[in-house]
Amino acid sequence: MKVVRFHAPGDVRFEDAPEPDAGPGEVKIRVRNCSTCGTDVKISKFGHHHIHPPRVMGHEIAGEIVEVGDGVQGWAPGDRVQVIAAIPCGECAECKRGRMTVCPNQVSMGYHFEGGFAQYMVVPREVLKVDGLNRIPDGVSFAEASVAEPLACALNAQNLARVGDGDDVVVIGSGPIGCLHVRLARARGAARVFLVELSRQRLDMAADLVKPDAAICASEVDPVAAVRELTDGRGADVIITAAASGKAQEQAIEMAARQGRISFFGGLPKDNPTITCDSNLVHYRELMIVGANGSSPAHNAEALNLVATGAVPVADLITHHLPLDQAIDAFGIVARGEAIKVTIEP
Ligand SMILES: [Zn+2]
Ligand SMILES: [Zn+2]
Repeated sequence: MKVVRFHAPGDVRFEDAPEPDAGPGEVKIRVRNCSTCGTDVKISKFGHHHIHPPRVMGHEIAGEIVEVGDGVQGWAPGDRVQVIAAIPCGECAECKRGRMTVCPNQVSMGYHFEGGFAQYMVVPREVLKVDGLNRIPDGVSFAEASVAEPLACALNAQNLARVGDGDDVVVIGSGPIGCLHVRLARARGAARVFLVELSRQRLDMAADLVKPDAAICASEVDPVAAVRELTDGRGADVIITAAASGKAQEQAIEMAARQGRISFFGGLPKDNPTITCDSNLVHYRELMIVGANGSSPAHNAEALNLVATGAVPVADLITHHLPLDQAIDAFGIVARGEAIKVTIEP
């Protein structure tokens, strides 16, 4: 079969690999869609300390079951499925408390296990053990289902930041995750959603699709002042930083309303993870700053449901459908910000 494999930073190859079989407790799928995201670009350029090459990349996975290993209950060939990306152990102190997104034993598809940029893939028993294989609801395409994983991550963040009725929400970063955050915030009852982005071109492309109440180009105006003006000086109830930018995080704190919640959704580069925070703003305004680390199996199931009910449409966010042999080109499209979501159809 054909796969896209990471060999070393800057060395990702479209090549042949032996077709895998489903061992005991495993399920084999024919991958129908595996979507790309910024993480794939990062891995292809810099590698990752959890990836021991060669490794098939890809973690936003949807496909059809073709083989069920010994001892697997409840699944059959022909079933349409979505696969979680981050796999919690299900047994540690955090998992037992239901905090699966911060499981210290977390492993991931495309990192510790062969990923979805392949014609066939084995769903490891670790995924099945934590209920990480989801049936795709009728009416949801494989492409849409592959976007359930990033949507699940957005859902985790908005749960933690308690996005809800009447909130003024700011999303900083207009990539695919930013677009998902805008749509999700609306589905959760946000009063208004403002989208902030440095690049005018990316902002316009995203705003065209997700229609924020205001689109703020941070290279043209001061986004903190713009948000204050839009909110009669209050600031925003929730700010989500969907960008790997320390400056965006600092601006998020400054533009928060009293008792505002700030989600640091996007992480910062490892070699520059420090920001300056006026701690008195946090103190006197009773701000709440929360992180977000991936998603749990339950978030993935809920995300699929949000797509199925139409609460969060994703089909129009998938701007590019490309075959597997163009996956490496797709990383370039993502890196240059020319697309919202690029999905690969192996
Ligand atoms: Zn991703
Ligand atoms: Zn755990």
